This record gives sequence, C-alpha cells and structure tokens, in this order.
Amino acid sequence: MPDYEKYMTRCLQLAQLGEYYVAPNPMVGAVLVAADGTIISEGWHRRFGGPHAEVNCLNSESANRLIAESHTPTTLFVSLEPCSHFGKTPPCADLIVSKKDELRIERVVIGSLDPNPLVAGRGVKRLKEAGIDVITGVLEKECRHLNRRFLCLQEKHRPYIILKWAQTADGYIGSTDRRVVISNPLTKQIVHKMRAENMAIMVGTNTALTDNPKLLCTHWAGRNPVRILLDRQSRVPQNSNIFSEDAPTIVYRDNTQWQFILSDLADRAIHSVLVEGGATVLKHILETGIFDEVHIEVNPKISLHSGIKAPDCRHGFGSLFEDEEIDGNFLYTYHNY
Ligand SMILES: [Zn+2]
Repeated sequence: MPDYEKYMTRCLQLAQLGEYYVAPNPMVGAVLVAADGTIISEGWHRRFGGPHAEVNCLNSESANRLIAESHTPTTLFVSLEPCSHFGKTPPCADLIVSKKDELRIERVVIGSLDPNPLVAGRGVKRLKEAGIDVITGVLEKECRHLNRRFLCLQEKHRPYIILKWAQTADGYIGSTDRRVVISNPLTKQIVHKMRAENMAIMVGTNTALTDNPKLLCTHWAGRNPVRILLDRQSRVPQNSNIFSEDAPTIVYRDNTQWQFILSDLADRAIHSVLVEGGATVLKHILETGIFDEVHIEVNPKISLHSGIKAPDCRHGFGSLFEDEEIDGNFLYTYHNY
C-alpha cells in the first residue's frame, strides 16, 4: 500500500507549479501510482481555463504506456476533490470513471473536498457510485492552506485579505513631510512576489497621492494584480500612476462599507487582496476584524520619533505564524483565523 502522505505531498508540489497562472481557480496536483509505489504519471492545473490536474495526469502518454507494461491496480492521488460539473472543461470525476478499467484505478485518495456548491461532495459520490474506493482528508490542512484564497471566496463569499506594511523601529510607517525608505532590496522583492500571489492590491487616497505608486509586479515574474483604490472624496487625479494602462483599476468612492466592497469583489471573482496602505485604510480594516493575514516588516536601524503611526498590536493582528530576518529587516506574519 503506497504511503498516502508522501504522494499527497507530491501532489502539493505539482499544484504549486500553477501558482501564478490559475487564479481564481484552485491549484491542484495529481499523481497516478502503481501498487508497488511507482509513480506512473503526474499532472497539475497549469493555467486558468486549461485542463485540470486529473486530465493532465490521466491523459499523459506515460500513463498509457506504463500501464500497458504493468498488471497491478493503481491509485490516483489528487489534492482537491475531482470536479463533477461542466465548467470550462468536462467533469474530472467522469473522466476518472471512464478511465477506470483502462488504467486499473481502484482507489482515489483526495486531499481536501471542493466547497464549490457545484461540486461539494458530488465528485466523491460519482466515484463511489462507479465502484471506486475513495479516501478523503489526506494532508487536508496543507491542501487547504495552499488554496486558502480560493477556499475563502467559495466558503465566505469574500476575497482573502492580507494586510501589509513596513515600519521603523519606533513604529512609524512614514514621515509626514518626506519619503522614508524602510524596506531593503530583498524585502521589496518579497512584496512584489506577494503582489504576484494575489489577484488585487489595495491602497487608500493618501498613499495614492503621496507615493503616486503604479502598484505593478515589476520585481517578480507574474501578472500585475488588479488595483483597487479607496478614494472616498474623489481626490486622486485621473493622471495618477494608479490609473496607468498597465493593469485595471477599481475605485470605491463615497462611504462605501468594507462589507460591501468585499462582496462586490467576490462578485468579480477576485479571490485575494493585498492591502498595502496607508495607515487609515489598514487601521479601518483591522477594526472591522475582517482580514486573514498581517505581514509587518520592521527596520531596526531607522527611528523617526514622529510621523505616521503604524497600526499597533492593540488592533489585534491574530496569532504569530512566522518570523524571519531578511538582510537586517524583520518580517512578522500573523494569521487571523
Ligand atoms: Zn476537474
């Protein structure tokens, strides 16, 4: 009997290869394993709208060639429940059933169930009805963590919210009269990686006016996120960098409520938002309590003594998940779930 967690770990590695290309779809990996533990075939969801992991795994040449040489039953591992509905592609559960005899699939091992109301257990049901043994929940926590953005949109009908800022040793995110560089080149690159990992990036009026940022993903390979501007009094001029043609920009004006913004973004199938400031926006969101992660960068070598105060722990960041040092700066990650 193959080691379930070992092969599910491989599924997760494969799934991650789709990281910057599949949103708002989930990242999924699949492996077909012979009874002696040999991996016969692998597949993953490579790009949005493209074939799912199971299709890439089961239709591969190696699967069909190696299975002809083998005479043992096989187990299919997949990190997310196979779909049972017609989306951009036909249902994977049907494909598995149709390939069951040819590829001798006797068991399907699943990481996490798909909460999409169009699937939600129906993929498992379809497989069981066809006489396939189904095991669920293998490395479920890891599988859910990988797709936490997708799962948040499906389960809570809102995007996954990540708050991020950089602060000085004495707790300021900036000066009121001059530009202060708190990040270093490496942490700046990490911010661009985070931009690539999320579908949208959000800033408020003051950040757009003071920094005039383009908010693009220039120091990391990946798509530019959609830009979201909270500009309640329409103070940001149309010729600002945030309205450049490099990426779409959504503007919320008036006194739009946070809950309304979240549900509107969910309707647009945006599964994740990186909030980059400024202080007013960050503090407001922290007060609502509706956010999922907080990333704080601290530069221990800079003190300002006055300026724009960073949010502090009285706002409640959640629990510390990770802390690391990058080239002299400290990065703290909190999870609020
Ligand atoms: Zn599928």
